[in-house]
Order: sequence, then C-alpha cells, then structure tokens
Amino acid sequence: MIRMSNIHKHFGSLQVLNGVSLEVDKGEIISIIGPSGSGKSTLLRCMNQLEKIDRGVVEIEGVVVEAVGDKEKTITATQQEIKASFRKMGMVFQSFNLFPHMTALGNVIEAPMLVNKMAKEDAIQIAEKQLDKVGLLAKKDVYPSKLSGGQKQRVAIARALAMNPDIMLFDEPTSALDPELIGEVLSVIKTLAQEHMTMVIVTHEMSFAREISDRVIFMDGGKILEDCTPVEFFENPRHPRIKTFLEKML
Ligand code: ATP
Ligand code: MG
Repeated sequence: MIRMSNIHKHFGSLQVLNGVSLEVDKGEIISIIGPSGSGKSTLLRCMNQLEKIDRGVVEIEGVVVEAVGDKEKTITATQQEIKASFRKMGMVFQSFNLFPHMTALGNVIEAPMLVNKMAKEDAIQIAEKQLDKVGLLAKKDVYPSKLSGGQKQRVAIARALAMNPDIMLFDEPTSALDPELIGEVLSVIKTLAQEHMTMVIVTHEMSFAREISDRVIFMDGGKILEDCTPVEFFENPRHPRIKTFLEKML
C-alpha cells in the first residue's frame, strides 16, 4: 500500500536518509529499530509528508504522491488526491501533542470536524467509540493536564483512529512514559494489531517488537541495514552491528 523508493533527505550538511527503500503492505505490522540519530523519525515523517524528501519516490496504493529526481516517475495524482491519501495516515508521536486547552473528547473530535467537515454530533459519536476503545471514555471531559502520560498517549491514539486511518504510524509511543505506564499503551497497540491495522512502529521496546511485528527493520546511519522477520532479527541477526545493538538493549 505504501512504497518508498530510494529516499534521500538531508538537514544542512547532515545526510539523514541515504537511499532508503521500504514497502508496507496492507495489514502488515513493521517495527523500525535502530540507534538514536539513525533516521527513524525522519523516515516516518517523510512517509506522511511532514518532511519533504530531497530525492526518491513515494507511492500510496500504486499512485505516485511524491517523486523527486527520478526520470521514470512523475506525480500523476491531483493535489486533492494526494491530500486525501495522507489523511488516511494516522500518526502518534512520542510527546503526545494533545491540544492542552481541549478536553480528551475535544481533542478527538477536532480533526473529524475541521478536516472532514463532520457534524459535531457525528464526530462525538465516533470520538466516544474511540475513547472507549482505548479505555478512556470515563475521562472524556478531562483536560490533558489532568491525565497521566499513558492516558494522554491513549487519547492521542484515539484521536488518530477517529480519522479512520488505513495505516497508523507510531514514533516511539512509549519513550516518554514512566515504566509502569508503558504496558497500557502497548496493549492498545496490540488490540489494533489483532484487528489487522497496518502499522509502522518506531520503538525501543524489543520484546513488544518481537511479539507484534511481521517484519523488523533496522536502521543505521540513514540506511536500512536489515529487513527481516522478528525471529531472524532477534535470534539470528546477520549483521554484527545489530548483534552489538541488541546486546546493549536486551
Ligand atoms: P531517535 O532514536 O533519537 O529518535 P532517530 O533515528 O529518530 O533518532 P531522526 O530524528 O530521524 O533520528 O534524526 C536523524 C538526524 O537528523 C539526527 O542527527 C537529528 O539531529 C537530525 N535532524 C532531525 N530532524 C532535523 C531537523 N528538522 N533539522 C536538523 N536536523 C535534524
Ligand atoms: Mg526519533
């Protein structure tokens, strides 16, 4: 459903993505693992156009939505079609990014109303369903400052789900949480996995990645060093760099 080919991205003199190619199929769950600064967040942000790529091609459902420096590929979709495809991607950040002046419910109804022009009562219905799904319907009228980190992150997940995404991108969704709050967020993601949501998850939670992923991708220095099954990755890493990384993590 998403194909990224030969993606390059730099910030100033720093080459952050150096020819990354990645395909995500419908229903697949992919974990992206790698050291700090290896380009994991940048890759996710290039996937949903939060960052512009310097070179490469991004295709969604076979339609070219971004193409730079590739003579054979040009963008054929209209701006409107491109916008619509990116709306089908939900993103959850490490730092929750909730609107502090809105209640949990307010946060979840915002995009369906503003972006999808949904009537308030319809948006509320969807939002309540999603808040219930993440176990927070009882907290719908509470402001983010009164929620724990794990609760905030679950509201952020409900907010992304309220847009009825085809794919969810998670950028270290538990890294900002106290250890005792990590489980409740991982458990919501596991529920999505059982429902066959397509997901790309940047994570440092090794046992979670092993349990949930169809594929594990290891990034280092702006390149994909490995793209394999979790069993291959954790039991028999081929690359010495991955062995060293895992020894430090486990
Ligand atoms: P972490 O595990 O620490 O989150 P990461 O693998 O997600 O790391 P990125 O956030 O993709 O890494 O960053 C890769 C490199 O690009 C880092 O050196 C970072 O400092 C740099 N970088 C990222 N975003 C920007 C930006 N907007 N401007 C300048 N440099 C950036
Ligand atoms: Mg990151």
